[in-house]
Amino acid sequence: MGADSLINLHTHTTFSDGDFTPEQIILTAEANHLTHIGISDHLMTSKCNSLLETELEHYIDIVRELQNDYPRVEVLVGVEVDTNPKRCDLSRLPVDLLNQLDYVLFEYVEMDEGTSLDDLEPLLSKLDVPCGLAHNDIEKNFGPWPPDSVANHISSFGVFVEINTAWPYKRDGQMYWEKAERYYQEFHGKVLVSVGTDVHHSLAEVYNLDNAYRFLRRTNLLGDLVI
Ligand SMILES: [Zn+2]
Repeated sequence: MGADSLINLHTHTTFSDGDFTPEQIILTAEANHLTHIGISDHLMTSKCNSLLETELEHYIDIVRELQNDYPRVEVLVGVEVDTNPKRCDLSRLPVDLLNQLDYVLFEYVEMDEGTSLDDLEPLLSKLDVPCGLAHNDIEKNFGPWPPDSVANHISSFGVFVEINTAWPYKRDGQMYWEKAERYYQEFHGKVLVSVGTDVHHSLAEVYNLDNAYRFLRRTNLLGDLVI
């Protein structure tokens, strides 16, 4: 799947810390010929304004209803989960509602402030929907291992890995995914990938996908997209 798709699965709206409504984002995606647009607001974290558990069902309904108005782009609904235990209690997440989503993003996985894949496994095992690592600094977080071992390790958890183009996700002036190109090359056939721009404050970010797609072509991963 995925060879002809143009996807962006990482966007935030007024349901959390974004400036635009889901409708503004979906409209922009359709107008710019994306095949899939995912809304992925923050959930139950003290890090920023985020969805409460009691709001999650309404959020899912609102985003799903928008599909009717924008038939030329496939609308997906997800959330982004903060794996820092001081800010988000993973044990309290509403698993049944999460399983009504199209996907779940996890941020800060394998970082000091976050949770390891091993510690995330009990939650991952309860989720039937695709789960992904958002803006992960693969080289730094998994780096001591060679690329093929990293690919096999991540593959064993069944999670996809996101190519996130937002400016904060850089180290030494280079995007995390650019630094980890040799790891991504090993993902082919093992680990699915997604693309996200972490839209918050600019609608132009909805369709700012050229660099990510160039990278997908270079690493032979166009056929390994999660969607
Ligand atoms: Zn985000």
